Amino acid sequence: MIPRSEMKIHKNPIEINKDMYERYPVTRQAFITVGYKDTGEMGHNFFLGKMMENMLKKMISGEKGRLQEDNALDFGANTLNLLIGQYGVPNFQFLQWKPLFIPEEMTKNPVKIEPDQLSSMTKKAAVLYGADLVGITKLKPDWVYTRDVFKSIEFTDGGEADETEEAYLIPRRVDKAIVMAFSMDDRMIDHSPEVMASTAASIGYSRMGIAAVSLAEYIRGLGYQAIPCMNDTALSIPLAIEAGLGQLGRLGLLITPEFGPAIRLAKVLTDMPLEFDQPIDFGIPEFCKNCYLCEQHCPSGSISNGEPGFEGVCENNNSGTKKWYINAERCLRFWQANGASCSNCIAVCPFTKGFESMQCFECEKCETQTGCELQVNTHLRIKYGYLKSDTWGNTPEVIRPARKGL
Ligand code: SF4
Ligand code: SF4
Repeated sequence: MIPRSEMKIHKNPIEINKDMYERYPVTRQAFITVGYKDTGEMGHNFFLGKMMENMLKKMISGEKGRLQEDNALDFGANTLNLLIGQYGVPNFQFLQWKPLFIPEEMTKNPVKIEPDQLSSMTKKAAVLYGADLVGITKLKPDWVYTRDVFKSIEFTDGGEADETEEAYLIPRRVDKAIVMAFSMDDRMIDHSPEVMASTAASIGYSRMGIAAVSLAEYIRGLGYQAIPCMNDTALSIPLAIEAGLGQLGRLGLLITPEFGPAIRLAKVLTDMPLEFDQPIDFGIPEFCKNCYLCEQHCPSGSISNGEPGFEGVCENNNSGTKKWYINAERCLRFWQANGASCSNCIAVCPFTKGFESMQCFECEKCETQTGCELQVNTHLRIKYGYLKSDTWGNTPEVIRPARKGL
């Protein structure tokens, strides 16, 4: 893998059309709109009804990869996710915005430590609590949801993060996000769309919850405010891009150099003085322009085969940033019919397997006669494993190394 220290810094990692972009309400997420269409109820989990029905049908009919023991493993993996915060609901269960156990003598007395040191301490703590990657960025209000299901999310000029009858209140001085990525087991993801791939996501959610809650308590213990978030409160992917964890791919997910898109994301928002990381550029948009593997393997036809643009393709998209938009409702309808979440797009993405993108740009050494080198090489890697870079373009020495970055 290219060391992060040698990667280019991206000056403008997210192109925004200011005339089009508006903050996004959670109520437009497919999880909510699909659940509402199915049941007439507004909530995070109503879309699950049809998915559970099909999960049980397939289990009872004895389908491979969907047996009772497969589902049991998934339920076990998801337990802490459900106990901690149910994928992410603001100020809910253990995702509380107030200290859980830290005494007031600590929460009211901020430690006197310089931001660079606090940043390094915070990253070490995040890794201790289970994160595989950590980055820090400014919390732009653009990425904060306008509302959760039942209440708006508003900024206040002072005070502490709080919740009233009408709104969640975030003080403007809570202006930093610590973004954490949690790797998913690529061998489990390979089983997609069977339940085993869903289990990789479930254990990822449980790990996210543990780390977000623990890191928030740590920060409160240092005397600062902390809002632990899973999927809730703010969009994770733009924050992760700005925190330097990776770039957005055609499949609509963050691609990290270390784990590709086989990650889950959580974040902690805070007012602690911290140093920011820089967004990275390791060639993802250029690569995706010549690779369609996720689009070809998507069972619901949700992934674009066109060029990135500013216009969303369904009611769930938030137009105004340049990217490949995903038809989120179609995707979720497939999950429901499948009786489990799907990760086909993650499974086939070459970066999930530790693909070293920059090798693709050594085109002058490549002797491929037909087709696009980037694309052909991608298929070769999927089929044969990894081509050792110093034999690139000659008789390829194929290796199957252990997963990078673990
Ligand atoms: S999760 Fe499955 S259905 Fe959804 S976009 Fe990816 S491949 Fe398509
Ligand atoms: S499968 Fe190919 S096109 Fe899709 S996100 Fe991965 S690299 Fe990009």
